[in-house]
Amino acid sequence: MGIHNRILLAVDLHPDYDEYTTQRAVAFAKEQNAQLYIIHCIEPIHAYGAAQGYQLILEVEKQVEDEANKALSELAKQYNIPEEQQIIMQGPPQRVIVEQAKTLNADLIIVGEHGRHGFSLLFGSTADGIIHHAHCDVLAIRAQEEKKAE
Ligand code: AMP
Repeated sequence: MGIHNRILLAVDLHPDYDEYTTQRAVAFAKEQNAQLYIIHCIEPIHAYGAAQGYQLILEVEKQVEDEANKALSELAKQYNIPEEQQIIMQGPPQRVIVEQAKTLNADLIIVGEHGRHGFSLLFGSTADGIIHHAHCDVLAIRAQEEKKAE
């Protein structure tokens, strides 16, 4: 057994970043002989004051959920992560990832770190939030420079 036995990898299903983060996480889990779980959180669409468009919002949410399920299972399949270790949850990523790590009794969370841009300059990145609130170790995988420059 390695230092970490159960690892939770968080992916935002962004085509430019997930491949690299997942590759590193899979190699890390293998090296530590750890079980690797993969999670994606679907952020709710805020529907305040949208009484007339409510049905449409439900349809969009369903579509987002279907696409997220498909993308996560494709990514997981590519790296031989079994279905029972693939997790899709509704809610804000920071909170849900930390809670899920607790529920799973994970001893490491792996996240991507894309550098600061836009809103994250003001409010901090998802990785920052997880580092501050997690009960366990957190490993942030830095995005490759050439991807960041694009
Ligand atoms: P960000 O700070 O939002 O650019 O995201 C950095 C990292 O946080 C990503 O590489 C993922 O590891 C994680 N993350 C962000 N959004 C989500 C999400 N919706 N579901 C799961 N993980 C996420």
